[in-house]
Amino acid sequence: MINIKDNLDKIKAQIAQACQQNNRLVDSVLLLAVSKTKPIEDIEQAYVAGQHHFGENYLQEALQKIEQLSHLPEIYWHYIGPIQSNKTKQIANNFSWVHSVDREKIALRLNDHLKESINEKQSHLTPLNICLQVNISEEKTKSGISPEQIFALADVVNQCENLTLRGLMAIPEKNARPEIYQKMAKLFIELRSRYESIDTLSLGMSNDLSLAVKHGSTMVRIGTAIFGQRNNK
Ligand SMILES: *Cc1c(COP(=O)(O)O)cnc(C)c1O
Repeated sequence: MINIKDNLDKIKAQIAQACQQNNRLVDSVLLLAVSKTKPIEDIEQAYVAGQHHFGENYLQEALQKIEQLSHLPEIYWHYIGPIQSNKTKQIANNFSWVHSVDREKIALRLNDHLKESINEKQSHLTPLNICLQVNISEEKTKSGISPEQIFALADVVNQCENLTLRGLMAIPEKNARPEIYQKMAKLFIELRSRYESIDTLSLGMSNDLSLAVKHGSTMVRIGTAIFGQRNNK
């Protein structure tokens, strides 16, 4: 049987070790628990073990879980999946973070929906924290902007009053070369030099956590190593 608390402890130890090996502070990397396809009982177990940030990919599934767990204080939901433009309202109204912004239209729509919720006095929802998803391995089938598009889109998000531009997110291809991680680190540093609000490099999953921390990741998104294998969706 999977022991979620043990798994969290192991992952935290792995993060701490990677930080120490690279002369980084242990608390400079936030652990995001990716709970897609997993039941709320698993999320509750992680929460009791001290985990408060959760990532979800599938909107309908996520909305049910968010509703069912809305009694838990200080639980933060991160949307990390592909975004269809007709879903932006539900995303804006239910998540604290969106890691997968990849076009201007999506950013503007998220911002507009938040304007409406402010008018409805739901100001706890703002600002919404945004990362731009970069297709760093330049795979044809993957979503995300190309590195050259980062700065134009960053400008748009930066001008949205209800969004806070926090940084970049990437999903390197399987067994990507270290150069891919170096390239990502370089883009992050360059973006950070342009905007004060930038502090997040969302990079690293169960299989490449240490490599990502080595290259400056500040948020690792871990699913399988915490909750076990997913059933195919
Ligand atoms: C599923 C998913 C993860 C978690 O992947 P694991 O390999 O299970 O750790 C991280 N990021 C994104 C964007 C995902 O879709």
